[in-house]
Amino acid sequence: MSNKNISFYESVNLNFDRAAKFVDLPKGLVEQIKVCNAVYQMKFPVKVGNQIKVIEAYRVQHSHHRLPTKGGIRYSIHVDQDEVMALAALMTYKCAIVDVPFGGAKGGVKISPFKYTDRQLESITRRYTTELIRKNFIGPGIDVPAPDYGTGAREMAWILDTYLTFKNGELDFAGCVTGKPVSQNGIRGRAEATGRGVYYGLREAVSFEDDMKKLGLETGMAGKTMVIQGLGNVGSHAGLISQKEGDAKIIAVSEYEGAIYSEKGIDMEKLLKFRKETGSIVGYPGTTTLAHRDAALELECDILVPAALENVITKENAHKIKAKIIGEAANGPISFDAEEILIKNGILVIPDMYINAGGVTVSYFEWLKNLSHMRFGRIEKRFNQNTYNSLVNVVEKLTGKTIGERERRMVTRGADEIDLVRSGLEETMVEAYQQIRLVRKRKKRINDLRSAAFVSALNKVGNDYLNLGVFP
Ligand code: NAD
Repeated sequence: MSNKNISFYESVNLNFDRAAKFVDLPKGLVEQIKVCNAVYQMKFPVKVGNQIKVIEAYRVQHSHHRLPTKGGIRYSIHVDQDEVMALAALMTYKCAIVDVPFGGAKGGVKISPFKYTDRQLESITRRYTTELIRKNFIGPGIDVPAPDYGTGAREMAWILDTYLTFKNGELDFAGCVTGKPVSQNGIRGRAEATGRGVYYGLREAVSFEDDMKKLGLETGMAGKTMVIQGLGNVGSHAGLISQKEGDAKIIAVSEYEGAIYSEKGIDMEKLLKFRKETGSIVGYPGTTTLAHRDAALELECDILVPAALENVITKENAHKIKAKIIGEAANGPISFDAEEILIKNGILVIPDMYINAGGVTVSYFEWLKNLSHMRFGRIEKRFNQNTYNSLVNVVEKLTGKTIGERERRMVTRGADEIDLVRSGLEETMVEAYQQIRLVRKRKKRINDLRSAAFVSALNKVGNDYLNLGVFP
């Protein structure tokens, strides 16, 4: 391998090539799965104060084997075609791994969002959406964006409103974008979904005794030391939920402004409140500040969760990583050549295309909700509640005993939308991990979970193509 740093898209493709050796698909089909099907680069003007700024933006549809295509929109000054193509490709494999019936796509706008006012960001978002509409690159059956780095529910609401302005009367308009606010055709549980999926994925990974033994760890999340890089949407929820529901111990957090450490553990809820009030995690009581923000990545810990951006672990620092498990909450945080070092050092890497698939899974639920025009649980909640109540009544009658009001409420509760979303997400993450783990176990020459995840994805996408009859 040369000294040149590998680009994100190159990394994705090198990972792809490594895994492609283990699948039994025609060569041309493998090539078709690998390439990006459509790349749209646009440049449009936006008025910023008294000036006109030219904004560079992209939408890449990686695979049309299933439609619509699906993938987030990133606002970052580092956006370029290579990055968006890499992210779009990962979306295809991600959707296949968790059995979400979409092709992969991704969008990117090359801006630093914090340099613009809310008004200007709204103009940029609306103009970007208009460009997508003009080229037929958005729609509930065509291509459905969602939030990613630098965007959130607010931007998705602007996209929805712009789409509706042009497509008034289109019955399924709300399915043109996901990650919307709940009040604007969104779904409960979408904001936390990627972070919650990271927690379910980690919990599943640490539940296998054989795998944990190899790492010198006990099974279970409780007490596992965790380090988190990036306290945005994904990192904050992954940390909060791992701590609250898994009893994990967050010993260090790194953000743009610096990194903090505490052997005793950091209360995530209080830390997030502190950052909101002071604008920084540095100075949070009971913690020490590390020499520089990336020092957090090199700490000794059970689980490292990079949840910021790609290529943060490269061949330059891979040998310094002391974590036993890395859960790639961000997309592409480990470069191809860095992973070879990590594997050699016995670190278990849980790949991005699996562990951060919670977001697209719940986006899929949101899209289904939009197409069905109905909230999950609306039809059956009351019916189930009445059935459970009757059941408890019968048991009470037969046993002559009564249960307390609190217990009765607990066992007779019908599921709300949030309960169904969380249980659907949990099932998806658990099932997908078991599939990937099985591939790794069965194929003796595969010694990493990423290749196993790729094999699982390639077989599913390949079968879709073959069933389409594109390759007779
Ligand atoms: P976000 O914008 O909400 O948060 C990212 C955070 O990382 C920000 O707070 C930023 O300040 C911080 N950060 C940036 N560079 C850093 C550095 N060098 N060190 C420490 N912190 C740094 O973004 P997000 O939506 O949480 O996305 C994070 C990653 O997760 C991205 O790779 C994204 O593609 C991936 N992802 C996001 C979703 C989603 O649903 N939002 C889904 C799947 C994957």
